[in-house]
Amino acid sequence: MDTEIFRKISYGVYIVSSRKGDRINAQTANAVVQITAAPPQLVLGICKDNFTNECIKESGVFAVSILSQETPLSLIGRFGFKSGREVDKFAGLSYRLGNNGCPVLQEHTLGYLEGKVVKELDAGTHTLFVGMVTDAQRVNEGEPMTYAYYHQVKRGTTPMSAPTYIEAEKKEQREEKTMEKYTCTVCGYIYDPEQGDPDSGVAPGTPFEELPDDWVCPMCGATKDQFEPAE
Ligand code: FE
Repeated sequence: MDTEIFRKISYGVYIVSSRKGDRINAQTANAVVQITAAPPQLVLGICKDNFTNECIKESGVFAVSILSQETPLSLIGRFGFKSGREVDKFAGLSYRLGNNGCPVLQEHTLGYLEGKVVKELDAGTHTLFVGMVTDAQRVNEGEPMTYAYYHQVKRGTTPMSAPTYIEAEKKEQREEKTMEKYTCTVCGYIYDPEQGDPDSGVAPGTPFEELPDDWVCPMCGATKDQFEPAE
């Protein structure tokens, strides 16, 4: 099987949120698809290990924030590489609660959809939630982030719990590495001195050694000492 072909399927990049009692949570997701227009229904593929899955199962409601191309890697990383069981992913972010009580982002977001679960399908590692859309609102103007843009321009990596994660992706990253690059041992983000880290104000051409001591991984927040030279 040529797993590279999976990379040719196009996706968006979304923040899927839900709640459990008073607790709110959300995660980065690319498996969000509209399946019918009348009535408006979506299907969400959510990893069973994720706290968001537990929240959606319990509350039966969700919201999907549609990310813009300008979304910093740090926001995608915050929702994608940390667990809501351990951290409050919304701390310090601009968000509000939708009509169904699920949080929706107000920044880096073109708009959001709120919904309720009408059917669940067990798909092995993931649950497919079929959701009826109960509200949809525009928030900001802009272009939507796509999975391809995220990979090609923002150089994101994919957590192993994402449905689109494939071993080939790791292999490809290994082949691209040079001695100057450093890898985050927590999330797999690769610091490339040629690109720098513009989202954090680090200019292209900055060697890893010259990064400020308080610089952290833009994907997951790991500190510099959690990086190691890429092979
Ligand atoms: Fe990281």
